[in-house]
Amino acid sequence: MSELCTSRAVTAPAATVLENREVARGTFLLRVAAPEIARRILPGQFVMVRGPGEGADDPLLGRPFALYEVNRDASGEPTSLDVVYLVIGRGTAALSRRRPGDRVDVWGPLGNGFGPSSGPGPAVFVAGGIGQTPFLALGREWLGRATYGDQPREVGPPVSSATLLYGVRSADFLAGVEDFERAGIGVEIATDDGSAGRPGFVTGLLEERLRSGERPAKLVACGPPPMLAAVARLAGAHGVPCDVSLENHMACGFGACFSCVTPILQDDGRPDLRRVCVEGPVFPADRVDWSRPSH
Ligand SMILES: Cc1cc2nc3c(=O)[nH]c(=O)nc-3n(C[C@H](O)[C@H](O)[C@H](O)COP(=O)(O)OP(=O)(O)OC[C@H]3O[C@@H](n4cnc5c(N)ncnc54)[C@H](O)[C@@H]3O)c2cc1C
Repeated sequence: MSELCTSRAVTAPAATVLENREVARGTFLLRVAAPEIARRILPGQFVMVRGPGEGADDPLLGRPFALYEVNRDASGEPTSLDVVYLVIGRGTAALSRRRPGDRVDVWGPLGNGFGPSSGPGPAVFVAGGIGQTPFLALGREWLGRATYGDQPREVGPPVSSATLLYGVRSADFLAGVEDFERAGIGVEIATDDGSAGRPGFVTGLLEERLRSGERPAKLVACGPPPMLAAVARLAGAHGVPCDVSLENHMACGFGACFSCVTPILQDDGRPDLRRVCVEGPVFPADRVDWSRPSH
């Protein structure tokens, strides 16, 4: 079925699944044929995906997933997009049962996406759990190795290097490390149980770098809220600009239901609620009110 355009977002009802394979423990790479969305989507934006489960309306709501990568044909024309997801509950479990040739509903691109690089210095991405997913496309764009979207926009000067600090519970959850390395993004790993990389939290890797005097031009983080709060604290303490990509629960994905709101500090220092799906998911770390538990 063809894609329907509404403003910048496109609905791809019954988009064909091209691939859906397990790439790490409980973690799947889903490739869907949605060329109009693939043509428009930017790093840091997301799509809602609804993969029918037991019945046509089960689950009723789509689930949000960050752009992992856009795939192109030999002429460079976007043809499909990849998301990488961890099976958590009903929606992702239903999705993991989709096979090539099955259909899923996809709508997007949604959200604001990342801003321009603060190059030409180094960029450091900090990911916890499944939070690595937005950084493949972002790293490729900031390194000047790929372009995304169909509109002219400011992407900033290429960064001198991009490094992913990637923390997971154990080595079997590591997903796509080779994709990042192939893209020229250095990867440093931390595991809670010490089964790969540095034992302990990923914020330990960041703290070591900052304490040794390293000053990235920009930090960007995605992962569980306590990790994001710790990264925001470290960035503030060392004077490094930092953005975070939030992954709040959301129902509609396009700003209608207000289920994903989070307190964002305004110019006068007071928090005001903002929709993660429309005004986010990317926010400056020092604008997020980390003292409130709604993210
Ligand atoms: C902008 C955005 C981008 C995202 N990108 C990715 C991605 O690239 N890859 C990926 O794997 N996931 C991503 N997520 C998270 C993903 O959408 C959820 O894991 C998914 O919706 C869970 O659906 P489910 O039906 O499997 O679980 P549900 O049945 O809906 O929930 C199962 C359990 O998990 C909890 N839960 C569900 N969602 C969240 C959440 N967001 N935060 C904390 N707890 C939650 C619920 O409270 C419940 O206890 C993203 C979320 C957002 C908002």
